[in-house]
Amino acid sequence: MNHNTRFLLDEKDMPTAWYNIVPDMPVPLPPVLHPATGQPVGPDDLAPLFPMALIMQEVTPESYVEIPEPVREVYRLWRPTPLIRARRLEKALGTPARIYYKYEGVSPVGSHKPNTAVAQAYYNQQEGVRRLTTETGAGQWGSALAMAGAFFDIEVQVFMVKVSYHQKPYRRILMESFGARVTPSPSEETEAGRKVLAENPDSPGSLGIAISEAVEAAVTDPETKYSLGSVLNHVLMHQTIIGEEALKQFALAEDYPDVVIGCAGGGSNFAGLAFPFIRERLKNGRETRFLAVEPEACPSMTRGVYAYDLGDTVGMTPLVKMYTLGHTFTPPGIHAGGLRYHGMAPTVSALHEAGIIEAVAYHQNPVFEAAVTFTRAEGIIPAPESAHAVRAAIDQALEAKETGEERVILFNLSGHGHFDLSAYDEYLAGHLEDYAYPSEAVAEAIQHLPRVNAPAS
Ligand SMILES: *Cc1c(COP(=O)(O)O)cnc(C)c1O
Repeated sequence: MNHNTRFLLDEKDMPTAWYNIVPDMPVPLPPVLHPATGQPVGPDDLAPLFPMALIMQEVTPESYVEIPEPVREVYRLWRPTPLIRARRLEKALGTPARIYYKYEGVSPVGSHKPNTAVAQAYYNQQEGVRRLTTETGAGQWGSALAMAGAFFDIEVQVFMVKVSYHQKPYRRILMESFGARVTPSPSEETEAGRKVLAENPDSPGSLGIAISEAVEAAVTDPETKYSLGSVLNHVLMHQTIIGEEALKQFALAEDYPDVVIGCAGGGSNFAGLAFPFIRERLKNGRETRFLAVEPEACPSMTRGVYAYDLGDTVGMTPLVKMYTLGHTFTPPGIHAGGLRYHGMAPTVSALHEAGIIEAVAYHQNPVFEAAVTFTRAEGIIPAPESAHAVRAAIDQALEAKETGEERVILFNLSGHGHFDLSAYDEYLAGHLEDYAYPSEAVAEAIQHLPRVNAPAS
């Protein structure tokens, strides 16, 4: 075993292709359905939303898609990202486990999100798109797309979940500095937003509502397309550069993870790290566990149902089979805004259903407690989303301490928390609220799942 602390790859060793897990899935993915007809959607149905290159990536049977050179050129601004052995955390916990984290917070906007934002902006530019709309929760996705838009000369409009817009003004300023326009959602700018506001003028917003607004703004303008920061196959595929790098770095470390952990909002950072390791399990017999970590306030996989549902609140998106809490569910305003999504990526959902991915949920306070332990040992203040993965990694290490096991733990530190210090302030002051799992609101939302006669998959 290599006793270094940081495992770094040269630029020339940066992976040249993304990994598409779909052809390797142990069970086929259920088809995506048209919300009006209930029939499988074809590329033409998606053309108003996405450029054809991304639609093709969404359904490609190829296992690998080459990363275009202009995208690699931007990646080189911060990639390859480091794999770090958390030696000081291991010592602080007194665990025999070896803890590694892949640090995606070194990107210019501080999260893993640019891995797909840059790719999406590039393909849109190639097809002559002038403007992109999107939604953002905590603001990480919006910042990533705003940066990518600036790099590829595309206008960006971001519908930002209202509760985050007010909690996180610095993210808005960052997006505006990149030249993006930021609109608090629900807004009066779209039919979808006006409908929500009519029913609930004080709506804190949700990712589901913001998606409806961004999709509507895209489909009503021929020069505009829509960009999604998680959930879809092509988005998760773009993130697999994280896991492909990590595999090479584990070779340098002469080690291999027993458990791979990521927080899961829509599933992209988790999948980005985990999918290449899942390939090694499915194809090469590596025995690795996979653990997705959710907030107790929005636990799609731990408490949701596996069913066809809409991706947004109002019903602008296709129906996908996924773990969901119901598209009408508005999660409580927890600080991990990026985890406040009612659904989960179809690939991650199917792998959970197949028993390959496990899921666990935590309340905010234990999550921030773990984050502060991590900060005091390793020096990095995690994003509140990433802190969920930190909590699970620490619990794995403590379990190993009890059993005396040399467990090897890998987690994705998907971003830093420099824009989330007010959440830390609340935690440190003892003011952070642990929202109980909103079982009644979810039960109500589940009632509103769309009825579909799913074709045999
Ligand atoms: C957006 C975000 C998440 C949650 O989204 P996923 O698609 O589940 O990865 C997690 N961590 C950070 C830092 C984020 O910005």
